[in-house]
Amino acid sequence: MAIQRPKGTQDHLPDGSPKLSLDTQASAFQDVQDTARRVLSRAGAQFVSTPIFEEAELVKRGVGGSTDIVRKEMFTVYYFGDHGGFILRPEGTAGIVRSYLQNGLKQLPSPLKLWTHGPMFRAENVQKGRLRQFHQVDYEVLGSADPLVDAEAISLMVDVVSALGLTGVRVKLGSIGDPADRDAYNAYLRELFGAHVERLSDDSKDRLERNPMRILDSKSAGDQALIAELGVNPMLDFLGDEARAHFQAVQTYLNAWNVTYDIDPSIVRGLDYYRRTAWELHHEGVGAKSALGGGGRYDGLAEQLGGPLVPGIGWAFGIERLLLAMEAEGLDVPASGGPLLYVVALDDQFVGHAATVAMVARQVARAEFAYRAVKPGSAFRDAGRRGAQFVALIGSDEVQGNVLSIKNLTTGVQSTVPTRDLNSFLGDHLEQTGTAAAHGPAVPQENA
Ligand code: AMP
Repeated sequence: MAIQRPKGTQDHLPDGSPKLSLDTQASAFQDVQDTARRVLSRAGAQFVSTPIFEEAELVKRGVGGSTDIVRKEMFTVYYFGDHGGFILRPEGTAGIVRSYLQNGLKQLPSPLKLWTHGPMFRAENVQKGRLRQFHQVDYEVLGSADPLVDAEAISLMVDVVSALGLTGVRVKLGSIGDPADRDAYNAYLRELFGAHVERLSDDSKDRLERNPMRILDSKSAGDQALIAELGVNPMLDFLGDEARAHFQAVQTYLNAWNVTYDIDPSIVRGLDYYRRTAWELHHEGVGAKSALGGGGRYDGLAEQLGGPLVPGIGWAFGIERLLLAMEAEGLDVPASGGPLLYVVALDDQFVGHAATVAMVARQVARAEFAYRAVKPGSAFRDAGRRGAQFVALIGSDEVQGNVLSIKNLTTGVQSTVPTRDLNSFLGDHLEQTGTAAAHGPAVPQENA
C-alpha cells in the first residue's frame, strides 16, 4: 500500500473527489475562511499571520504548564543542530500576543482587533472532530478591558456562524472572575476535594495541589461523579464586585443586540492569566462534549510572556467542527463551478494557439484550454464535464480568419467572434448575467 497520511490529519480535496464530505472539501474550507474574513474585516479586524512553530517557552507560558496540551499533547520540532526547543503551535493566541509585543503593535490605534486562520497541532486521542492537525479561525482584541469589547467579540462569533447558515448553535457564557476571586474559589475547592482525595483520579490529585479549578474540567468519570455528588458551588458565586459588574455589563450589551446565550456556571479556565468573561459555542452536530469554539479574556497573558500589562480577549473556532455542524444541518457549499471559457484546438498544430487565447481571456475570467486536439463532438462533451459556459473551437478556418467559433453551452447559440474581441464578448456576458463574481479572476486577498 502506498504511504498514508498520519493519523489525526485530513486532506482537503478538490470538488468532485470521490467520498467527499464537507469537512474534507477544500472549497467548503475556503468558504469558512472567506466568511470569517468578511464578517471580521467589516468589524475592523486586520489579518495577521504568525509562525506555526514557536519557542517551547512561549507555548508553555501561553497555554499553561498544568494543561493537558502542554503536559501530553505537544509536537516538538527538531532540526539538525538545534536545541530541540520548538513546538508546533497548539493554538493561536500566544503567538499573536508575542507578535504584538515583539513588533510594537501597541502603537497602533487601540483596541487593536486582529484575526487569523491556520493549522494547529495537538497530539490528542483521535475521534470525530478531534484531530492532531486541525484548523482554527482566531479573533483577538488587544488593549482594552472594556466589557463592550467582550460583548462585541461574542456577537462576532455568532455573526460568523449565522453567515455560514448555522442555526443550532448555543452560546454558553460564564465568568471566572479576577485573580483574588479565583484564589478564594480554589481555597474552597481545595477544602472540599481535600476531604475526598482518595476518590480523585491521579491527574486530579495533582490538580488539587497546583490548580483545583481544573478538577472541574476533568475527563475522568470518577471525578465527575464525585463533583456531582458533592454539589460543588460554581465559580460565579465567588465573583467580586468588579468582576460581577463586568459580567453584568457584557450581558446588558448582548441583550440589547438580541444575542441569545445561556449562563453556564460550569465554564472554568484554570490558568492564572484568564480573567472574567469566558464562553463556548456548542452544536449537537459535533457532540455534547466538544465545543464548536470558545473564547475568553486573558488580561494577564502579556505579562506572563514577559511584557507589560496588555488586556486582551479572543476566541477561536475549529474549522473542521464548523463544517461538521454544517453537514449535520444539511448545509452544503456549492462546488466552485467550471470555467467561463474552454478553448479547444481541432488540430495539433493549433494547441499552442488555443493556450494563448485562454491566457488572454484570463484577464477577464476563468479560462482553460485542452492540451490535445480533439474533434468538435468530444470538445463539447469535455467542456460540459468541466462545467464550462462557453467552448471556443479553433481550426484552420478560425486561424486564417482570426476568429473563434464559440458555442454557449447553456443556450446552444453559436457565434463567430473576432479573436481580438474575445474579452469584450466575455465581459458583456458577465455584465448581462451578473456573474462577474463567480467567473471573474478571483484573486484572494486577506481583508479584501
Ligand atoms: P481551545 O483552544 O481548546 O479552546 O479550542 C478552540 C476550538 O478549536 C475548539 O472549540 C474546537 O472547535 C477547536 N479544536 C480544539 N482542539 C481540536 C482538535 N483536537 N481537533 C479539532 N478541533 C479542535
